[in-house]
Amino acid sequence: MNKHRTANPAGPHGPTVAPLRSQARDGAGAHEHAAVATTVTTATGAAAQRARPSTSPDQEAAASAGGVLLKAVGLKKTYHKGKHEVPVLRGVDLEVRQGELMAVIGQSGSGKSTLLHLLATLDRPDEGEIWFNGQRIDNASTRQRDRLRNRQLGMIFQFYHLLPELTALENVLAPLMITHGFFSYRLQRRKLVERAKSLLETVGLAHRLKHRPRELSGGEMQRAAIARALITEPQILLADEPTGNLDGRTGQGIMELLRSLNTQSNLTIVMVTHDSAIASQADRVVQLVDGQVSDS
Ligand code: ADP
Ligand code: MG
Repeated sequence: MNKHRTANPAGPHGPTVAPLRSQARDGAGAHEHAAVATTVTTATGAAAQRARPSTSPDQEAAASAGGVLLKAVGLKKTYHKGKHEVPVLRGVDLEVRQGELMAVIGQSGSGKSTLLHLLATLDRPDEGEIWFNGQRIDNASTRQRDRLRNRQLGMIFQFYHLLPELTALENVLAPLMITHGFFSYRLQRRKLVERAKSLLETVGLAHRLKHRPRELSGGEMQRAAIARALITEPQILLADEPTGNLDGRTGQGIMELLRSLNTQSNLTIVMVTHDSAIASQADRVVQLVDGQVSDS
């Protein structure tokens, strides 16, 4: 499938996309409330610095040359509800190549969120392996997984998960406040605020910096959530039904923003969705059916 090249993710009158990865690589991924909690408790110290999974130059080179960035092998996951077992993933194999925008399509309840949470190291598989940048990550320590989420994996969700009491700008800055810690953040505040503003401009929200989530539309909230996910310059963006709560036109705007971030910033994206019109715009679509992934 051809890539849809959108000149400007913010629409014809919006600002242009700045290269996302030209900035310093520090920050945290406060992607989900649960993720924020683990990030706060474990990712601020020097120990967390030491715990960062190392990546060899060879692995980086392979990834930047269009190699496999993220790989799942034989993932299985069963939930237990009382005496009942709910097998959700029954041996998922998946390869995501550097620079691609991939869609996983599946019906409601097929296990899309479960799969994405495993890939994001928010949960662990019962069986199987997950490899990122040539490193196995499913069995990494909690601290390493936090570190990975803080730096290399970005996530966005159907319901945005913005912090309601913070402005759009503060929401985008929140991951950086968490990783930097109070004093470091204060020292670098001016530079970090400029970075957050620039990212909000990139997603078309330059005029909404001081708005709180309740003062934003659904599409604007998702744009803010995308900026928050990207403030740490992740290597991959994992998107869970990013258009699932939006009307068709607004959802299409978000899809075009994702496509533009992909083409202009070479951001690898894995998106799960039940919407075939959205999925069909990806470079590659796979289906999640009966707990397994197959080419569609
Ligand atoms: P999707 O995102 O495709 O709608 P999910 O991954 O959220 O699907 O859920 C897949 C199945 O697993 C559903 O039947 C759901 O009810 C069940 N499930 C999801 N999370 C849990 C959980 N924490 N405990 C028990 N069952 C769960
Ligand atoms: Mg889901």
